[in-house]
Amino acid sequence: MTAVATDRLIRPHGGALVDRTGERPDDLDSLEVVVLTSREVSDLGMIASGALSPLEGFMGREGYERVVDELRLASGLPWALPVCLAVNEAPQGDRVALADESGRKLAVLEVAEVYEYDKNREAENCFRTTDEAHPGVARLYAQKPKYLAGRVTGFERPEPEFVELALDPRDTRAAFAERGWRRVVGFQTRNPIHRAHEYLTKVALETVDGLLVHPLVGDTKGDDVPANVRVACYRTLIDDYYPADRVLLSAFPAAMRYAGPREAIWHAICRKNYGCSHFIVGRDHAGVGDYYGTYDAQLIFDEFEPHELDIEPMFFEHSYWCKACGSMASAKTCPHDKEQHVFLSGTKVRELLENGEVPPTEFTRPEVAEVLIEAYRS
Ligand SMILES: [Zn+2]
Repeated sequence: MTAVATDRLIRPHGGALVDRTGERPDDLDSLEVVVLTSREVSDLGMIASGALSPLEGFMGREGYERVVDELRLASGLPWALPVCLAVNEAPQGDRVALADESGRKLAVLEVAEVYEYDKNREAENCFRTTDEAHPGVARLYAQKPKYLAGRVTGFERPEPEFVELALDPRDTRAAFAERGWRRVVGFQTRNPIHRAHEYLTKVALETVDGLLVHPLVGDTKGDDVPANVRVACYRTLIDDYYPADRVLLSAFPAAMRYAGPREAIWHAICRKNYGCSHFIVGRDHAGVGDYYGTYDAQLIFDEFEPHELDIEPMFFEHSYWCKACGSMASAKTCPHDKEQHVFLSGTKVRELLENGEVPPTEFTRPEVAEVLIEAYRS
């Protein structure tokens, strides 16, 4: 991508975009190897690319404890979720190689410290529950017992699932600058976009220069719609219903943690690093089951002064097509009762699509429904 001045965009979290990419070291073969889980591999890539700026590596004890207790890094900068590497034992040397589960070496870590951590406390504070039925808590409890901290240098990355959608913060920032965008709203999603979400992205876009549709393509629960089907839906919808010069589709490489409110903050900070000045936060953002209150992911933003996060959250209600209004609407803008609203539960939508039936156009664009029906058929 050509060099474009990006200084009119929001500054990265902490002021500068981190770049922890580098050369494969000559002594790589002599280093002890630490094997990462897929979530840790995803975090590693995001540290290296600057998506988790100002982090330069996996968190040390001081930063970890402050994040868990106070939603802040050791420097005092807001931060919402631990980014840690779990190990059984302290390594021997002062540098280790980091590899994925297939054994491919991706990075080197300079060992800063190894420390014990309290899984119950992390679960309680970060997930607001210690219930192992919660997928984030289950993963935490299955982790190795110590955290290994230190700065990383990445020299190789796993092949992304969607090569053309794999844009690093540097790339999205350049793309925004090239288009002349200054204010950009980021939209996080891990579901196909139906009319309700199309509506809120467009309401948000009315007030800014551009929209980054930034679907999460990292690890999710098994029952979420597969990433390749979702990506086909996003492309179809964007091609047919958004102006090409106002929207950018790119993949967000994070793994889902299902930490609800804290993850909403974390998602916002990441998007700030990608160059977004605004971030859409719906009801129950990044939630799972009924572990979080409907508005918790919005209320948590009040725990910070607005200037501390810099990125502006845009809060939305559930929206729907209202027959009486003759438009998309929400409880904020529509006075009519439920009978006028076109509402379908997730279960109902799935049932229709599995039977090859197109949901009402007030609920889903027919082109998107076709993609989903095709996916269920095969
Ligand atoms: Zn209405």
